[in-house]
Amino acid sequence: MTDLSSKKKESFQVLLQQLQLTEDAMVEHFRDALIDRVVVEKKQKKWHFFFQFERIIPCSLMSRFTTQLDRSFSHIANVTSTFNVLDQSVTEELIHDYWKHCVQEIDGMAPPLLKLLNEQLPKVQGHKVVLNVRNETEGMAIKNKYSGILADIFQTYGFPILTIDTVVNQDSSANNDYEEFRKAKEKEDQERALMAMVEMQKKEAEKDQGDAGVPDGPVSIGLTIKDDADLRRLEEIVDEERRVTVEGYVFHAETKELRSGRTLLTFKITDYTSSIMVKMFSRDKEDAAIFNVIKKGMWLKVRGSVQNDTFVRDLVMIGNDVNEIRPKLRKDKAREGEKRVELHLHTPMSQMDAVSSVSDLVSQAAKWGHKAVAITDHAVAQSFPEAFGAGKKNDIKILYGVEANLVDDGVPIAYNSAHRLLADDTYIVFDVETTGLSAVYDTIIELAAVKVQNGDIVDRFESFANPHRRLSSTIIELTGITDDMVENAPEVDDVLREFHEWIGDAILVAHNASFDMGFLNTGCKKIGIGKLPNPVIDTLELGRLLFPDMKNHRLNTLAKKLDVELTQHHRAIYDAEATGYILIKMLKEAAEKGIEYHDQMNDYMGQGNAYKRARPHHITLLAQTEAGLKNLFKLVSISHLNYFYRVPRIPRSVLQKYREGILVGSACDKGEVFETMMQKSMEEAEEAAQFYDYLEVMPKPVYSHLIELELVRDERSLENIITNIVKLGEKLNLPVVATGNVHYLNPNDKIYRKILVNSQGGANPLNRHRLPDVHFRTTDEMLDEFSFLGKEKAKEIVVTNSNKVADMIDVIKPIKDDLYTPKIDGADEEMRNMSYGMARSIYGDELPEIVEARLEKELKSIIDNGFAVIYLISHKLVKKSLNDGYLVGSRGSVGSSFVATMTEITEVNPLPPHYVCSKCKKSEFFDDGSVGSGFDLPDKDCQTVGSATRKMGMISRLKPSLALKEIRFRILISTSPENISHVPMTIQKSCSVKTMCIVRVQLVP
Ligand SMILES: [Zn+2]
Ligand SMILES: [Zn+2]
Repeated sequence: MTDLSSKKKESFQVLLQQLQLTEDAMVEHFRDALIDRVVVEKKQKKWHFFFQFERIIPCSLMSRFTTQLDRSFSHIANVTSTFNVLDQSVTEELIHDYWKHCVQEIDGMAPPLLKLLNEQLPKVQGHKVVLNVRNETEGMAIKNKYSGILADIFQTYGFPILTIDTVVNQDSSANNDYEEFRKAKEKEDQERALMAMVEMQKKEAEKDQGDAGVPDGPVSIGLTIKDDADLRRLEEIVDEERRVTVEGYVFHAETKELRSGRTLLTFKITDYTSSIMVKMFSRDKEDAAIFNVIKKGMWLKVRGSVQNDTFVRDLVMIGNDVNEIRPKLRKDKAREGEKRVELHLHTPMSQMDAVSSVSDLVSQAAKWGHKAVAITDHAVAQSFPEAFGAGKKNDIKILYGVEANLVDDGVPIAYNSAHRLLADDTYIVFDVETTGLSAVYDTIIELAAVKVQNGDIVDRFESFANPHRRLSSTIIELTGITDDMVENAPEVDDVLREFHEWIGDAILVAHNASFDMGFLNTGCKKIGIGKLPNPVIDTLELGRLLFPDMKNHRLNTLAKKLDVELTQHHRAIYDAEATGYILIKMLKEAAEKGIEYHDQMNDYMGQGNAYKRARPHHITLLAQTEAGLKNLFKLVSISHLNYFYRVPRIPRSVLQKYREGILVGSACDKGEVFETMMQKSMEEAEEAAQFYDYLEVMPKPVYSHLIELELVRDERSLENIITNIVKLGEKLNLPVVATGNVHYLNPNDKIYRKILVNSQGGANPLNRHRLPDVHFRTTDEMLDEFSFLGKEKAKEIVVTNSNKVADMIDVIKPIKDDLYTPKIDGADEEMRNMSYGMARSIYGDELPEIVEARLEKELKSIIDNGFAVIYLISHKLVKKSLNDGYLVGSRGSVGSSFVATMTEITEVNPLPPHYVCSKCKKSEFFDDGSVGSGFDLPDKDCQTVGSATRKMGMISRLKPSLALKEIRFRILISTSPENISHVPMTIQKSCSVKTMCIVRVQLVP
């Protein structure tokens, strides 16, 4: 090994230290890695690392490495890197390992294609990657547009040049093996991601702790080195120089007291191009004190002279000025009394979604001088205790809330109800193709319909319409309509006029009618016809009513079920025709159910599992009073127990019932006010908004995915939507509040969320686009985001209104000072019976004195203090968990309670060591301290019946918990990650206890 390459390797190891990636797994994989060179662009503050690896390293390590590289240099430079890999052999496994990661990096891919790539693992033949596609067009799109990009991305991680091929495969079942492999992999990724994240955050926390003895601001010795100082790379320093400035990572530092009484500080720094030793001599006591602060791990700028040092026989720098470079802390620059309040904030209890701890978020809010901060996790209240503690510690008001999933009690099948006999009527079954999903901002490009009479299609209508804009690639891919097909088409207004004349007063029918009717009505209103009064039937909802057991009720699924031919799905006329035949068959089925008239169709609305069919909308609930908090808890419980379907849901009627003391906000882009404003009309948004107490708008970057997904055309349209919501608030006299949808504290924490979300793969819709910027924003940052509304308006929604809402809320304590045990009728008696029953089954009907005395003593204390019910709940929890196959461990005071043993909460028997015969139940106790533990007793047969006796009893080192002031059952349930949400669910459902159980769930890899 040449001296040079060993230096380059050392330098890589120093980098690992700087990145805090020092655990064995990391070091092992990077053993032969080296930093070949670093190219620095001083002006742009850009650094490019050239790394050399022995072989391609696992994707999870690679992403941690690049993540940390990014983060650690974020305050120094913008870092990019190239990986040169010596042994480029690849396997299918390795490509699968990197697959999702690389697909995520493709920019601007149409969502359907992205989904396709995301949801499969390609076959690999040598350096060829073969992808399944659904048709030739898709294959061409992938090959032409993305194969090069994808190969490039793989290459950046050291892969050889891969070629991408596609194969048409319509039968999705062929993908089953992959599907399973993918799922297994996803699971594995999720676990790894969680662990990596925990590890990284732990390190960060340690670092913060380590800083405790260090002065608050960055360290500075001598003069301040200005930003524009001519920074030299260390590799350029080859000779003695009078005055140079360098920067680098400190990888060694020590101070020495010299005989002269002065202190000598020596430290070594590297900028990864080379390294140098710096020496400094103290001039006075203060100098000496500050020298001690220079530590390994800092990033320093140093100015001084370079000299040949005879002692170390190398060039050494004699430092004059030293400045530490630290990441800048964000400050809230708003004046006292003009600070905002964050009303929408997620903590790690928003499962697999948010990352910063409640304590950090709350203490940051307090440091910025905010007077309050809200907690609004997805559907749960588990962060309240920690938030309460953090609020007390930091002297800041906590607003307790949740972001819930609101559903309508039922979705109508028919609109504009009319008492018309279905069998005799005329129907216009129609379908529209559009430039996008928003009836407000998008327009119709094709309108097609069939007329149905007496069970047959009797007429057709078909026309394109000119949108006067270019179609997006998603729309072209989805509809097969291209720009030249609509370029010379008639104006949409004319098409609608003609259509209006053609339909007469017939019943209108469409699949997912609210979408098509939205476009039709918006268009008709524009040309003065107004909202159409025709009765409407939605075949999607009708299908759901008639065939509740079908997995989905998409048009092609229904067509298959009802034996209707559907060629060229997604072209309007074919879809309309197929819907026509589907309608004919469904009307027959409906007649058999007794639905004969149009106005009977909604009679079944809200029945059965209607909550499962409705699409949930996000909604923010803030407890305004103590009573409101109780209602909030009820809603959380009800949504988990009675209305859980994929997510816990709250039907609108249930929310109304428990709404007292709760402020209702309109939440994010998944809230109904925003969505209606985006996709329907101002009037409909107004109707939706009346349900709320305040309206939320968020910074544009928080909505950025909407533009990427082509739900909103551009930033202008987004501003339009926000402006319209603000106007709506004025009109309805509702406060409009700027909220941040916070998911982490600082912008550079985004990477943690990315790891978390990415690990969930296609199952999480967040993986279909880039993640928005959802850090905790300061007042001035928030004001900037809304400056497009004008200064005054921005201040009103950011500062005035957020404070107004916060002031409407009482100071609430979610944790009571006294103990309030829950109540279950007969709990005392049940505990007594259960304990004695079990004791008799082990020790015989005539209980040994020691057993009976202990039972009595404990039971009295337990029952008198009101703890019987807690024992009973624990008993049920443990039993249910064991029955369902979850391991249960117990810890703490539970191990010293004999009643807990007798009620099977724990297996630990806290009695003195003893033998007991399982047949004749005779026992022998050693309570003189001669035996330490029952397990140490020698094996022994029972003298009476001759069979082996059981050995039991462990005198617990814990004192028996008889002086019961407080009792805590910490029940540890071990489960694998995919069951996390399932466990608390099962337990809550099975316990039939009207209380909240706090269960700590441990992950078992
Ligand atoms: Zn939301
Ligand atoms: Zn949210």
